[in-house]
Amino acid sequence: MSKSRIYSFIGRYVTACVAFLLCLVIIYHVMSGLDLPHDTIVSGKADGQVQNYPTVILDAGHGGEDCGAVGISGVYEKDLNMRITACLASYLRLAGCRVVLTRTEDRLLYDPATVQKGHKKMEDLANRSAIAASYDHSVMVSIHMNSFPSESVHGLQVWYSGKSDNSKRLAAMIQDDIKEYLQADNHRKPKESAGNIYLLDYAEHPAVLVECGFVTNVAECAKLSDEAYQKELSFVLFCAMMEYINETV
Ligand SMILES: [Zn+2]
Repeated sequence: MSKSRIYSFIGRYVTACVAFLLCLVIIYHVMSGLDLPHDTIVSGKADGQVQNYPTVILDAGHGGEDCGAVGISGVYEKDLNMRITACLASYLRLAGCRVVLTRTEDRLLYDPATVQKGHKKMEDLANRSAIAASYDHSVMVSIHMNSFPSESVHGLQVWYSGKSDNSKRLAAMIQDDIKEYLQADNHRKPKESAGNIYLLDYAEHPAVLVECGFVTNVAECAKLSDEAYQKELSFVLFCAMMEYINETV
């Protein structure tokens, strides 16, 4: 083998090694970034907020003794809500948003002195609503799972507060992105809450509620319980929210 061919071979070998190592580094960073715990704030800004971004209020529905819907596999809605919320919060914080979670623990937000079950639930909803109202420039996304007596019903459904056009706009962006990137067979349209969803009916700022899917459907319940799907779903919600935020500021 001539000298020039040896040099050429060594050059190609070194280039291939460097490219391989670079790939490993990129994969490591992407994987570790996706697994950030929900309370990690990553941002160039001290307060975790970029420019004029609204504060994002993320609400993991239910909690504590209120399990929400019980899935066909026995999984509790409140736990799935928390996992999606934590994942979505990580993505939003990575993008520089300030995120406020209405709950970070498995509990409802009521005073320990409150004893009646109905009062506990109302106090919980009023407290969640008050957290959202306390941030002037904000948008709230409440995360829930759906249920229905018929096992065949499936698909993500977004509800919005009729008190602002921005709520309707965000709801449409989420519903459209879900159809485009995750559920091609989802033909649902966003629905306006008509006095039946407290957090939306009493919202003072843009607010939507996302029913991520039906835990009473075998296939959808299995997907919603799967960590990889939770990340995919959260990522589509994140993309729709960033689209909304960038168009709003
Ligand atoms: Zn719910």
